Parts: sequence; C-alpha cells; structure tokens
Amino acid sequence: IKPVVALIGRPNVGKSTLFNQFTKSRQALVADMSGLTRDRQYGDAEYEGKSFIVVDTGGIGEADDGSGNIDDYMSEQSHTAIHEADIIVFVTDARSGLIGADEEIGKFLHTLGKPVYLVANKIDGVHDAAPAEFYALGLGEPYPMAASHGRGLGNLLEDITADM
Ligand code: GDP
Ligand code: MG
Repeated sequence: IKPVVALIGRPNVGKSTLFNQFTKSRQALVADMSGLTRDRQYGDAEYEGKSFIVVDTGGIGEADDGSGNIDDYMSEQSHTAIHEADIIVFVTDARSGLIGADEEIGKFLHTLGKPVYLVANKIDGVHDAAPAEFYALGLGEPYPMAASHGRGLGNLLEDITADM
C-alpha cells in the first residue's frame, strides 16, 4: 500500500501548483482505497521508482473570528486529509513571509506525531534569506521552493521518499 502525503497550508501559497508538479497531472486510482473520500484531490506521484499518493486540499480558510482556535484556519476536509496522511507537507509563502495563520497551523501539526516537511514556496524573486524566518515554526529547516518553476522539488522528493 502506498504512503499518503497531504499538502497543507493556507490559501494561495501554492499547494495545487505543487500537487501538479508531484503528479504531473496523473490522477490517482484511489476508488478502491478504503477510507479515502472524493472531496479532496488525489494524485499518483513517483520519484526514482518510489510511489506515493499525494492529496491536495483547498480547505484551509481564513475565517478568523479572533478566538485563535485551529478551526478558524482549517476546514473539515483538511483535518480529514491530515488524518489520512502518513506524511504532511506544510506549504508556506516566502513572499508574504511568516504570518499568524502559519503559526497556528504549525502548532497544530506539531501535535500529530507525523513527519512534517516544511516548504517555503515562491522563493523566485525574494531575498535568499527569506525562507529562514520559517525556521521559527520549529518544524525544521524549510525547503526553499519555487513550485511554479519546479525549483527545489528534487530535494523535497528525495527526503520524502527516503524511507519509503
Ligand atoms: P493554493 O491555493 O495553495 O492551492 O495555491 P495555488 O497553487 O493555486 O497558487 C496560488 C498562486 O500562486 C497561483 O497564482 C500560482 O501560480 C502562484 N504560485 C504558485 N507557486 C509559485 C511560485 O513558486 N512562485 C510564484 N511566483 N508564484 C507561485
Ligand atoms: Mg489549491
């Protein structure tokens, strides 16, 4: 059975762009995978002979009511995707920099005990040091990436698949 990798993060950071890079638009045959529902997008990914399922989510909202509750940031489908996943890829935006919503999502991901790979996306056109501030999330060294150019993808795939 293939490992499941979920792409998590606030809107517009580049999750779907990364999904398309991972899958090269191959759609996963997941109809017979029990427990996986259809309201998230699944794709088949492969790197150097290792295969996994990647899950895209559109569901982390910005409906912050000020309570600071994690559900202000994360929809039901994001929770489900996280629950289904063996590995989380947490995507952030190096252009906008680290914001409160990233911190809330990061805190939640900490509690899961699942491997989290932190991506600082959109490094094209930003200062080389821009990804460094995401280190403060306590999720390790961020992977600098320009998903729309495929830059940084190899490093991430190498590490994600290392134990598969
Ligand atoms: P999602 O909401 O997290 O799924 O984000 P999308 O993948 O839809 O991307 C949101 C916007 O950011 C789109 O206009 C993308 O073209 C753009 N985008 C994604 N990745 C990059 C990147 O690496 N660099 C730049 N400059 N733009 C990007
Ligand atoms: Mg999307």
